[in-house]
Amino acid sequence: MTYSLFSLAREALRGHTGWKPAWRDAAPKPEYDVLVVGGGGHGLATAYYLAKEHGITNVAVLEKSYIGSGNAGRNTTIIRSNYLLPGNERFYEKSMQLWEGLEQDFNYNAMVSQRGVLNLYHSDAQRDQYARRGNAMRLHGVDAELLDEAAVRDMYPFLDYANARFPIRGGLLQRRGGTARHDAVAWGFARGADTRGVDIVQNCEVTGIDVANGRVTGVQTTRGAIRAKKIGLVCAGSSSRVAAMAGLRLPIESHVLQAFVSEGIKPLIDGVITFGAGHFYVSQSDKGGLVFGGDIDGYNSYAQRGSLPVVEDVMESGMALMPAIGRLRLLRQWGGVMDMSMDGSPIIDRTPIDGLFLNAGWCYGGFKATPASGWCFAHTIARDEAHFINSAFRLDRFATGALIDERGAGATPNLH
Ligand SMILES: Cc1cc2nc3c(=O)[nH]c(=O)nc-3n(C[C@H](O)[C@H](O)[C@H](O)COP(=O)(O)OP(=O)(O)OC[C@H]3O[C@@H](n4cnc5c(N)ncnc54)[C@H](O)[C@@H]3O)c2cc1C
Repeated sequence: MTYSLFSLAREALRGHTGWKPAWRDAAPKPEYDVLVVGGGGHGLATAYYLAKEHGITNVAVLEKSYIGSGNAGRNTTIIRSNYLLPGNERFYEKSMQLWEGLEQDFNYNAMVSQRGVLNLYHSDAQRDQYARRGNAMRLHGVDAELLDEAAVRDMYPFLDYANARFPIRGGLLQRRGGTARHDAVAWGFARGADTRGVDIVQNCEVTGIDVANGRVTGVQTTRGAIRAKKIGLVCAGSSSRVAAMAGLRLPIESHVLQAFVSEGIKPLIDGVITFGAGHFYVSQSDKGGLVFGGDIDGYNSYAQRGSLPVVEDVMESGMALMPAIGRLRLLRQWGGVMDMSMDGSPIIDRTPIDGLFLNAGWCYGGFKATPASGWCFAHTIARDEAHFINSAFRLDRFATGALIDERGAGATPNLH
């Protein structure tokens, strides 16, 4: 059913008895043209765009738990396209453009809110780095504004500007960045895909990948064997484990990333702020809670909960940035398993096995990528080749050296 002002009014008048489930809880069929393994945001978006853009509807999304139970429903909901390197910038800007029309496109309220993302800088060197990033963004047609301290003070007077160690000197602002309601994004894509004939199969864990003569033929699952011509792996933090079922060893490590939500308070922060002298980012949800997070846990883990040293580190960064939150009570905290690639950028590509495709390596930034990730992966699966937009996200770049080292943390710090 289509959601509109008219349908809302009609249901209000008849006691909301006419709403239908947003998608079918399908049972798996024995065979599909395409199987998408992983019912997170990216897997559901892939199925949606396979059906919508390529007319491929004999598709099933296989999810081991319920859709959105992974990182899709665990992130801090920040969306932005403020990247430096060409391979990343064109992709994340495509994603931002898809976000801007997404709710109309899939007829679902995903609460996309372009409230602005502000990256603070604390030194001259950091200002120069942000100026360079802002210039790169503008050269790609992306909005970016370098603000001085007075302009930031005007926006957020309550930050600690005179902090002796980390004085705030200004910030790089992307006004088109912001937030979206994370699980509504998964639900919207699920509903849009289901409407076009895709089967969303929940509680169906893939336990094996069948390969014959160098080509995939199907998967083994907890609900039986399913044959398929093509299979897309979109398993985020579980990518290495699932790819290993096909004999692939990925350049990915899994780490936990935690998120925190405070008790609800009156409107304080109307955008997204990131601290430039530590790892801390914060926004305020429409319900009033401050939503914030920091760095990944320092060791590999598949547990969806984090460790205390990072909790302390995040709180310290938060206090250094805005001491006013010192007496705030924490309401909830959780963790998600991140698929950390070795250069910090994702992989959307074919694999050495015919018919097997890989979407992984999202690190802690894959929520903002959800629409473009699905759009590009659907193209790659449907056409057997990458679109220009994801052409840099190759699996073999770790062997060839064509890394996309956005953070300058990998083997090519000279690029920064
Ligand atoms: C705390 C936290 C904060 C974050 N904050 C942000 C942010 O502010 N902005 C941003 O852009 N990104 C953020 N991220 C990252 C972002 O959430 C992820 O990169 C993105 O959600 C990953 O893609 P996905 O939604 O498809 O993953 P997931 O939702 O994890 O989907 C993968 C799915 O695969 C399923 N699966 C795994 N193994 C199998 C199997 N064998 N069979 C079937 N199904 C399987 C899992 O159950 C899961 O549902 C954050 C992540 C976390 C954890």
